[in-house]
Amino acid sequence: MPDITSPFGGLTIDFGATGNAAPLAAVPVASASPAAESPHETNVLILGSGPAGLTAAIYAARANLAPIVLAGFQPGGQLTITSEVENYPGFPEGIQGPELMARFRQQAERFGTRVFDVEADRVDFSSRPFRAWAAGVEYRAQAVIVATGASALWMGLASEERLRGQGVSACATCDGFFFRDKAVAVVGGGDTALEEALYLTRFASKVHLLHRRAEFRASRIMQARAESHPGIEIHRGVTVDEVLGGESVTGVRLRDVATGTTRDLPVEGFFVAIGHRPNTAPFDTWLAKDEKGYLVVEHETHSSIEGVFIAGDVHDHRYRQAVTAAGDGCRAAIDAERWLEEHEPAEAVVATAG
Ligand code: NAP
Repeated sequence: MPDITSPFGGLTIDFGATGNAAPLAAVPVASASPAAESPHETNVLILGSGPAGLTAAIYAARANLAPIVLAGFQPGGQLTITSEVENYPGFPEGIQGPELMARFRQQAERFGTRVFDVEADRVDFSSRPFRAWAAGVEYRAQAVIVATGASALWMGLASEERLRGQGVSACATCDGFFFRDKAVAVVGGGDTALEEALYLTRFASKVHLLHRRAEFRASRIMQARAESHPGIEIHRGVTVDEVLGGESVTGVRLRDVATGTTRDLPVEGFFVAIGHRPNTAPFDTWLAKDEKGYLVVEHETHSSIEGVFIAGDVHDHRYRQAVTAAGDGCRAAIDAERWLEEHEPAEAVVATAG
């Protein structure tokens, strides 16, 4: 059974320290609005702490909206389970994903963002102030930005989890560069897997595409490209029993679905591309989803509910990049700020635990 990415993939992130990051001076918040005075009330509640959520927080905090961020089950988002990030502008030498996200968070907190390491498990968007519950505490907000992201699906193998970040990845765009002149394997038969396999041919000496059935789910054009690419070897009707390797990946053990026989395929990278799942559970009864389960955005970053905005991978299955998510968070915060300017705050009610 595939499972959803577990938090951190074994990484520990110390958001209190930022590695090599230079310490940032504290900047006082000029005049927070009344909604900021209660610890669990805010003008803007941001759900999610990946690039979209924390960029929204930076913008909302600098607009003096005293935002609250509920960081979610994976504080920092998907970048915290990748290693080096080399395509985020401004870091010519590259930066570790966890450190990048620690910097995002520090920058948001510098301007007065309150970040709680809890996950919203329920929301009520029926009227303002909007409400969300996390770890038994009720949060109230005049506007909400949903930036809960998406999680890569994993196969659920113990060896896969153990070697995550040590040759096991769910993002070729993030990690492909590290496999120059090495053999890698990609598992999956949808458009994502074929796209990842084709992308990896730029670096890898050989890309083995592993699919459990004979027919691909991917579009015909992607199939044709993969099948005709000299750098890709397709293995149909195989499943992966185990990712091999001690400190890092050295191969995968394949099982032939028809015969049950196993064989080891030597590779140094193993890319899991069996789909993503947007993190939408608390919003199921409130916000519209498309046929793939992603939230639907109306008019730039607006949702179907006035005052509730959407940013990042929870609606975007096309680009899925840190920089596009960050841009989206910025847009959502600006839209929320403008919307709040045009709408009187609803009466704030004292937050309660329970
Ligand atoms: P997908 O279409 O759901 O395909 C997932 C693939 O992973 C399937 O081939 C499935 O095998 C395989 N799989 C699932 N669980 C597995 C497991 N435990 N072990 C081995 N294989 C497993 O997901 P996707 O490829 O991420 O695509 C999602 C959506 O985004 C699709 O609608 C796709 O068209 C779209 N997309 C579009 C583009 C593009 O247009 N450029 C790029 C990427 C994605 P089975 O086939 O046997 O079920």
